[in-house]
Amino acid sequence: MTLHIPFDNSYARLPRDFYTPQAPVPVKAPSLIAFNAPLARSLNITGADDPQLAALFAGNALPAGAEPLAQLYAGHQFGHWNPQLGDGRAVLLGETLGADGLRRDIQLKGSGPTPFSRRGDGRAWLGPVLREYVVSEAMHALGIPTTRALAATRTGEEVWRETALPGAVLTRVAASHIRVGTFQAFAARRQHDLLRQLYDYTVDRHYPDARDPLDLLNAVIARQADLVTRWLSVGFIHGVMNTDNCTLSGETIDYGPCAFMDVYNPETVFSSIDRHGRYGYGSQPDIIVWNMAQLATALVPLMPDEEGAIKAFTQAVHAMPDLIRAGWLRRFGAKIGLTDPRPEDAALIGDLLVLMDRGQADFTNTFRALAEGDARDQLTDRDGFDTWEAQWKRRLSEEPGDPVALMRATNPAIIPRNHRVEQMIAAAVAGDDAPFHRLNAALANPFDPAPEDDDLRRPPTPSEVVPATFCG
Ligand code: AMP
Ligand code: MG
Ligand code: MG
Repeated sequence: MTLHIPFDNSYARLPRDFYTPQAPVPVKAPSLIAFNAPLARSLNITGADDPQLAALFAGNALPAGAEPLAQLYAGHQFGHWNPQLGDGRAVLLGETLGADGLRRDIQLKGSGPTPFSRRGDGRAWLGPVLREYVVSEAMHALGIPTTRALAATRTGEEVWRETALPGAVLTRVAASHIRVGTFQAFAARRQHDLLRQLYDYTVDRHYPDARDPLDLLNAVIARQADLVTRWLSVGFIHGVMNTDNCTLSGETIDYGPCAFMDVYNPETVFSSIDRHGRYGYGSQPDIIVWNMAQLATALVPLMPDEEGAIKAFTQAVHAMPDLIRAGWLRRFGAKIGLTDPRPEDAALIGDLLVLMDRGQADFTNTFRALAEGDARDQLTDRDGFDTWEAQWKRRLSEEPGDPVALMRATNPAIIPRNHRVEQMIAAAVAGDDAPFHRLNAALANPFDPAPEDDDLRRPPTPSEVVPATFCG
């Protein structure tokens, strides 16, 4: 059966100012690494047994109904304004309506040069493609809003990244690829008609209840505040929170140099290009507020009364840190078994984090151990833990519900640890995809892993520690 994607391409119906039509550039020898059949089914995609899957998802053949295009956007990269970025190595094939009635983009990433490629080659290498596949699917299994991975293919071509590496293409599924940087592109050019069209499109697609740009701003702020607290709660570090990597939908996007923290330290940074730690673990709440301020600025021209709008938008952005704090308390409260955390519980959580920081405790394993009853072993300061535990137990005695069940459903046992991801990539480069498939299968059940996946709980040995991650 041939692959059938029921395309309905709304972005292609927008004016040409939003994009450039751009076909993927064929590659030498496509071969399929993975196809996410359950995701395909949920998107009403049929024909998963098509022998042409590799050619289709490497960009050598187009599925019927695709209208490939490269999207325009701008953005702040590490705080520096860049008036034109755009899809430099990706094309949107089109959109499809899922079984849930929601519209989703289907994008090829690594599909060849576009007019937005600047000095880049338009390609991706195998490592980042497999990292995004594994980590984005793991994030989904953790219940965190994210883009998904539909397919990965090898290209049979080499990509040059200081050395020759195998090329690959990722097929990404997203609620949309509308970014803060998309709004910034039209605002910076003072193309207010186009800005208005983008606003209408976004409201229609993601926030049908928004009545004006302030409503939209508040709704995006709410989703992004929620997203960042979810990241913090699993030790996720995005690594490159530029405004072009920040979606209006509230999904995590762009798994470049992202990583999960092993040892708890709020200053953890992995990205090799993040020299000043702008996007470190504990900086993420500040940066998301900064990004929302950029969105607010881009929306101001849509308001009839600009002065009044600036005041209202400023208030909305200034309210965000409190939203994040409340979300943090809810999520970290749940991590220690509290269904309904109170403001004073922040100190109890904070005390545990201090013990973890001082003892270089593993973030994931310490919280999981709270649920499994052996957290003391995770910490070096045993007396400190005993004191904390007594307070904690006292607090838990006032809780209704089942704290252990809550903690087991909140604190994952397994996450895509960096060293496992790197080992998986090294194997795939050598031609062995088994570790990739194994990681994927295991990480589908992060809260209740099979006993044979217990080895994935193990933190890296000193020689396995991955000190830095790279974009690709
Ligand atoms: P990112 O850092 O992944 O968010 O990418 C920032 C910008 O660089 C986007 O416009 C990308 O499309 C572009 N880009 C990244 N890598 C490449 C590449 N290999 N070739 C062309 N453009 C690229
Ligand atoms: Mg990006
Ligand atoms: Mg990237």
